[in-house]
Amino acid sequence: SVECRNIRLSYGKTEVLKDISLVVEPGEFFALLGPSGSGKSTLLRLIAGFNQQNSGQLLVDGRDIGSVPPHKRNIGMVFQSYALWPHMTVWDNVAFGLVERKVRSAELKTRVAAALELVGLSQYAKRRPNELSGGQQQRVALARTIVIEPQVLLLDEPLSNLDRNLRVQMRQELLSLQRRLGITTIFVTHDQEEAMTTADRMAVLDQGIVQQVGSPSNLFDFPCNRFVANFVGTMN
Ligand code: ATP
Ligand code: MG
Repeated sequence: SVECRNIRLSYGKTEVLKDISLVVEPGEFFALLGPSGSGKSTLLRLIAGFNQQNSGQLLVDGRDIGSVPPHKRNIGMVFQSYALWPHMTVWDNVAFGLVERKVRSAELKTRVAAALELVGLSQYAKRRPNELSGGQQQRVALARTIVIEPQVLLLDEPLSNLDRNLRVQMRQELLSLQRRLGITTIFVTHDQEEAMTTADRMAVLDQGIVQQVGSPSNLFDFPCNRFVANFVGTMN
């Protein structure tokens, strides 16, 4: 599980996360939803260890990881701009994290091959990123994160660069992949429909405050305030 307890974070004098408390259960596909600037990426970066809170606690499986550096957290993050290494092949992009972790070559080969298989890109191992479609590049970014077998997966609008058809296809693929792996996943989106159709539960964030947490149908049927009602109600 991932638990935020009364987390506050400021950039200079501006408080961007204001007393965030929420629990993401083991194996959940959890959507973090909210308008631009509401603090979604800031919260994910904090969980990954790239941002430090001013107060409050962050617990993973019950353990306070506030002082654990990012590379020791066993948390995989796919960033909003999922920059792949342009000069490296797909294989090398995916293998990179394992090379860094000094994984032996036999094991490395098995794991990279399995990750590429999972995202359906086994045939593309020798290509470079600029020889792939946006959706394929997206899958490489996902494979690169999954291959390190993280305890928690954080996805920051991983489908935002894709056209509408590909988005709809990819979000189903993502969900079935998450179900197979069973990794606790927090998925940021500002697409209401995306959250409503895929998430087990979701949190709606506005101006650094969690407005409501619940299942998609719960938020749709029983929004706690006008903001949530408008935000969840306007399906695009
Ligand atoms: P989007 O949907 O546009 O990605 P978001 O919900 O992810 O938005 P954040 O990136 O978390 O929003 O930003 C939250 C607020 O914090 C914004 O007002 C942003 O301008 C501000 N902010 C983000 N990063 C920094 C930074 N490094 N220094 C100062 N302010 C920042
Ligand atoms: Mg963001």
